[in-house]
Amino acid sequence: MGNILKNDKAETEISLDLKQCVAFHGHLCPGLVYGYVVAKESIRLLGIKRSTDEEVVAVCENDSCAVDGLQVMLGTTAGKGNLIIKDYGKNAYTVINRSKEKAYRFSRITSYNYSGKNADEFNKLEKAVSEGTASEQQRLRQKYLKAVDLFSRPFDEVFFTKEVEFSMPPYAPLAPSVACAICGEMTMKTKMVPGKGGRLICIPCSNMTAS
Ligand SMILES: [Zn+2]
Ligand SMILES: [Zn+2]
Repeated sequence: MGNILKNDKAETEISLDLKQCVAFHGHLCPGLVYGYVVAKESIRLLGIKRSTDEEVVAVCENDSCAVDGLQVMLGTTAGKGNLIIKDYGKNAYTVINRSKEKAYRFSRITSYNYSGKNADEFNKLEKAVSEGTASEQQRLRQKYLKAVDLFSRPFDEVFFTKEVEFSMPPYAPLAPSVACAICGEMTMKTKMVPGKGGRLICIPCSNMTAS
């Protein structure tokens, strides 16, 4: 990872925040880099800081490694309710700034066309991975080279950026918890369903009584 970071123009700042992404996610991979570069661009365009509450919202159109880059960089996290995953399998992301009432969508428009100085190695790795013969180490190396490739390109070559209409996403719902009439476990009332006699029961219990 050292040389990507050192060769990058904004070396120290990038190395620190990218390192935080890698520490959280567990490895450096192209998916994480997508989330990272989209987050950086949205910070620049929207003038946002890492979200401490729900003032920034990210809508992620896949459930890949990129999600973790957004969580670390933007503070749009699964727990806070300001990370919305629409699993369309698309490399596309919308970042919303509530206070400025502005939103941008970023969608990936290019695939890998690796022609860097490690092209031969990259093509061999691609082949091994697609044939299912790659070792764990080869898979990691392929991810690393893809990540390097992404960093070497201007953002606009990889992503198409469009300002989109701002629509206020609802804040994460808060509701009191009550005991399920069957298992007795405290459950958020709005997530419960009526069971026999109209008593509120939790979803797992309702699935059990239905089967
Ligand atoms: Zn990953
Ligand atoms: Zn229950």
